[in-house]
Amino acid sequence: MTDVRLEGLTKRFGPVVAVEAVDLAINSGEFVVLVGPSGSGKTTCLRMIAGLETVTSGSIFIGDTDVAQVHAKDRNVAMVFQSYALYPHMSVADNMGFALKIRKLPRDEIERRVREVAAILGLTQELPRRPKTLSGGQQQRVALGRAIVRDPAVFLFDEPLSNLDAKLRVAMRSELIKLHHRLDTTMIYVTHDQIEAMTMGDRIVVMHEGGIRQVGTPLEVYDDPDDAFVAGFIGSPAMNLVDGTAKSGDGAVTFQTDGLDIGLPAGHPVARGGPVTLGIRPEFLDLQATDGAIAIAGRVEAVEHLGADTIVELETAGPMLVARLARNDGVFYGSDIRLWVDPANVMAFDQDSGIRLRS
Ligand code: ATP
Repeated sequence: MTDVRLEGLTKRFGPVVAVEAVDLAINSGEFVVLVGPSGSGKTTCLRMIAGLETVTSGSIFIGDTDVAQVHAKDRNVAMVFQSYALYPHMSVADNMGFALKIRKLPRDEIERRVREVAAILGLTQELPRRPKTLSGGQQQRVALGRAIVRDPAVFLFDEPLSNLDAKLRVAMRSELIKLHHRLDTTMIYVTHDQIEAMTMGDRIVVMHEGGIRQVGTPLEVYDDPDDAFVAGFIGSPAMNLVDGTAKSGDGAVTFQTDGLDIGLPAGHPVARGGPVTLGIRPEFLDLQATDGAIAIAGRVEAVEHLGADTIVELETAGPMLVARLARNDGVFYGSDIRLWVDPANVMAFDQDSGIRLRS
C-alpha cells in the first residue's frame, strides 16, 4: 500500500507551461482520476509520475521517497497506455511475463504469476495466442495483465479505454473498478471523459490549463463546484451557464440577461450585484412548481426522448436553456411552457474569475 504526493509539480516545454505548481495527495489504495479537456496537463502529470518525462521543478513522493530524479524503472509503478503496444510476435503469456523475464525471475515463478493474473482477467484460454488474433478488449486486458504481474506499488492509466467501442468501454470500466477493489492498489487514471471520471474515481481531480481546479468525490464536485469551469465541465447535459447582471432592490434581487429577467430572493448569492454567471443544472428545471420556485417561460426548440428522461431545449426571451425532465410524452417542439426552479438550486459565479459566489 503506497500513497503518492505531488508538491509544486511543474513542467515547462520551452515557453509552454504544461503543468504548473500542482499539489495533490493521493491516499494509499485510492483510485484517483485526473480529468480535464485536451491540453490541460493530465498526461504530462502522469508521465512525470511514471518517470517518462523530466520534472522542471517540484517533488513526486511515492511512499516516503521523492522519486522526481529516480529512473523510471526504479519507481515501482506500471503504466497502461491507450495503445496496447503488445509484442506481435509473442504469445499472450510471453507478453504478460516479459517484464518479469527482464528482471530474471525464475521461469516457473513467471508462469505461476502469469496464470494467476490471466485467471483474474479471464484470459486463461488466450495465453498461447498471438495478440493479433484477439479483440481490442482482450488486447487491452493483456496490456493490463502485463502491468498487474509486475505487482507495482502504483498503477498509472493513460486513457486506456479510448480505443474501445462504446459498449466495450462501459464493460471494461466496471472490470477495472472491480479489479481495483480486488487488488487494493493505488491507481491514477487520466481521461478527458467526465462520465468515465465520475463513474470510476474514488476522487476526481479536475484540471484546466495546467493546474488543479477542484479535487473531491465525484458527487462533491458535481453538487458543489468551486468555479464555473468545473460546473460546466462535470455533468451531462452540461449545466446551463448564463452571463448577466444582478441588481438588488425591494428585498429581492433581479438577474438580467439579454431579454430575460429572473427574480431571486434577497439572500441569494447573486445579491452582491454586478456581472455574474448564473448556473442551473438541467435536472433542476421542472414542469411542476414547488414552494418558492421561480418560473422561466419559453418555447420548446428541441425534444429528446431518452426513455427514462426527456431532454428539452427551451428558447427563452434570453438564452437557450436545457432541461432534463422525467419522461414526458406531452412536450412537443414549438410548445410554450414554463419551467420552474428552486432558487436554492441556482448557483452564481463571478463573471470575470469564474469563482463560485456563496451566501
Ligand atoms: P490530451 O487529453 O489531449 O492528451 P492533456 O490534458 O493530457 O491533453 P498534455 O498532453 O499533458 O495535456 O499537454 C499539456 C500541454 O503541454 C499542451 O499545451 C501540450 O501541447 C503541451 N505539451 C505536451 N507535451 C509536449 C511536448 N513534448 N513538447 C511541447 N509541448 C508539449
